[in-house]
Amino acid sequence: MSSPRIEVDLDLIGQNAEELVRRTAARGVSVTAITKALRGLPALGRVFLAAGAVALGDSRVENIERLRADGIDAPIVLVRSALPSEVGRVVAAADMSCATEVEIVELLSAAAVPARRVHGVVLMVELGDLREGIMPGDLPDAIARCLTLPNIEVRGIGTNLACRNGVVPDDRNLGELSDLATSIEAQFGITLEVVSGGNSSSLGWLSSTEKVGRINNLRLGEAILLGRDPLGRAPIPGLHQDAATIFAEVIESKHKPRRAWGQRAQSTFAPPADATPLDEHHGWHSLLAVGHQDTDPLDLGAPSGVRIIGASSDHLVIASEHRLALGSEIAFGPGYSALVRSMSSRTVHPVVRGGPAF
Ligand SMILES: *Cc1c(COP(=O)(O)O)cnc(C)c1O
Repeated sequence: MSSPRIEVDLDLIGQNAEELVRRTAARGVSVTAITKALRGLPALGRVFLAAGAVALGDSRVENIERLRADGIDAPIVLVRSALPSEVGRVVAAADMSCATEVEIVELLSAAAVPARRVHGVVLMVELGDLREGIMPGDLPDAIARCLTLPNIEVRGIGTNLACRNGVVPDDRNLGELSDLATSIEAQFGITLEVVSGGNSSSLGWLSSTEKVGRINNLRLGEAILLGRDPLGRAPIPGLHQDAATIFAEVIESKHKPRRAWGQRAQSTFAPPADATPLDEHHGWHSLLAVGHQDTDPLDLGAPSGVRIIGASSDHLVIASEHRLALGSEIAFGPGYSALVRSMSSRTVHPVVRGGPAF
């Protein structure tokens, strides 16, 4: 089999999805399952829907088009704002999109009218992580403007946390989203069908809070695929952490000094975050044929007895206790960044196992 390679087990992902749908449903929260990490793989979408997700979500219109081309007719949400240059494709393929700029909703409206489509919008609110969103004080005005637009339906509001500044979802920020939902409904006499309280990083909050409030939806990707809480990478009990594995092949294995020598300047790529020095002077130093061009090599979880000590475009440098046989493969558990990058790399061979038999 060719290397490097990413193997994905859709049966394990399906079990994770079922379990998370069950846990969130117990708190009155539905799941929009996010397909972007596997580039809108239709078999993944079918597994998510079979597990009980109410909708699929993806950040790229081309991935949504891929799901549609395969015949999936379930609701699909574009979870990034539509690009002004692609509104026609968005209204054709997606039922709904997340929006933060009324001007773009106006373009969606102008595209939806001749297409005789109704496009739903979920207005995203900025609650402190400082990625996307309308400032809370500006939300009423944005809602008022969207309500006047033909062929646009305001379906709800949402927020996204922990993606840029690691802001933790809690009763305070998600309580603010709930209060906004209530006040918007009262002010405009409308019903917000969706109050979307974030991504996988909101699961910890949901399992412990006594104030779910108006939150009735989460958009989940990473937790389903990797079985981990993105806030600290801790495994979520009861979920599989091994649904995705990256394999890389050994092309050099020699006993070498542990410290570089010669005059030192900057190197092209950053060193691993774990800079704890290796205690021995010499040791087994191996090169694997995978690098920044293929994945996020510093986001790979190494098996025991192996430590990642460096990476460049095409090489991963690892320290090990024993010599590694040339041509053998080492299996790594990707983090989200490594998963996403290897799935969108032309040089990593994807192998998808399990999934729907239909
Ligand atoms: C990617 C994305 C998600 C899913 O995030 P996970 O951490 O993978 O659960 C949810 N919402 C938005 C807006 C996203 O871009």
